[in-house]
Amino acid sequence: MSGLWEIENRTAGAARRARAQREEILANPGFGKYFTDSMVTADWTADKGWHDGQLIPYGPLSLDPATNFMHYGQAIFEGLKAYRHEDDSIKTFRPFENARRFGRSARRLAMSEVPEELFVASIEALVEQDQDWVPGGRERSLYLRPFLISTEIGLGVRPADSYKYLLIASPAGAYFAGGISPVSVWISDDYARAAPGGTGEAKCAGNYAGSLLAQAEAAAHGCDQVVWLDAIARQKIEEMGGMNLYFVYGSGDSARVMTPKLTGTLLPGITRESLLTVAQDLGIRVDEGEITVAELKVGCESGEITEVFACGTAAVITPVGHVKSRLNGSFEVNGGTTGEITLALRNALLDIQSGEVPDRHNWMHPLVD
Ligand SMILES: *Cc1c(COP(=O)(O)O)cnc(C)c1O
Repeated sequence: MSGLWEIENRTAGAARRARAQREEILANPGFGKYFTDSMVTADWTADKGWHDGQLIPYGPLSLDPATNFMHYGQAIFEGLKAYRHEDDSIKTFRPFENARRFGRSARRLAMSEVPEELFVASIEALVEQDQDWVPGGRERSLYLRPFLISTEIGLGVRPADSYKYLLIASPAGAYFAGGISPVSVWISDDYARAAPGGTGEAKCAGNYAGSLLAQAEAAAHGCDQVVWLDAIARQKIEEMGGMNLYFVYGSGDSARVMTPKLTGTLLPGITRESLLTVAQDLGIRVDEGEITVAELKVGCESGEITEVFACGTAAVITPVGHVKSRLNGSFEVNGGTTGEITLALRNALLDIQSGEVPDRHNWMHPLVD
């Protein structure tokens, strides 16, 4: 129960997996493969507004085949994590930032916005209920996936008159099981992720559907991830797959970092935004700017650009070691190795999220004491 929004617990008597089964899953959870015992749902209709917030056993939905979102894609999502700290308390990272972004995504897709307090109350209720599913240890977490779909039945093309909010959770192990290793990226010269005036800023399902062919092309060229350019000139680097990018110039005390500025076609990552602050805490100069593929190539070859990394909730920070593209050929970043600024920033953010340093920016939100 939380303030204005009461999530009714309807899991009494429901089957839960046995401790042994849960522990077997938690020993090697991977990412997004297993889900906890419960989920939250809430509904919006024009006459009632948001209502019927409930915690229920995890399970399939029954949907009419003419349910609007399956045809026209009014579907948005969020991603954040719950961490078990040394003292066994459970906390999450900046959930109101996710709540606000969820609201902006809803607005862009002409969907009904989920109140921020309902969004956070749903997370509190689910994590409290399924707290045994939050693994302990640095780099391990319970990944939380809030999402919103339109539920009006019919094939008319218009903003739906009913919506369903859902929250599910999935235990996540360390992203780099065998230690951090840089990824290779394919710069997509032929496909675009987001155009001015489009939905690039919204965390909507359709953006991902539109990216999969380019991701497959990256894989066909032996690369782990795709990097997106601006849709007009196809010069400026925007982001990587589902992560934002950072570029490091110089090294040691004179190092500075730059991330592409938000133009409306980039997804405003909460990790990206947090790292602007974390870098300053470490005495590293930060900038929001622009960089073209040609500048990246020249910079990497001259040594002016010393490191490149991607950042997002799922993997925190991922170094980029190799760059390939149809128009600009192949080149290495930092000799294909993980740089020291990348590691320092990664450790500083993980220290905060795992509760190993004081939370001086008040970013951690308590879920279970
Ligand atoms: C979610 C997402 C990110 C990263 O956002 P975080 O809030 O840091 O997890 C970056 N780019 C895209 C396209 C995304 O969908």
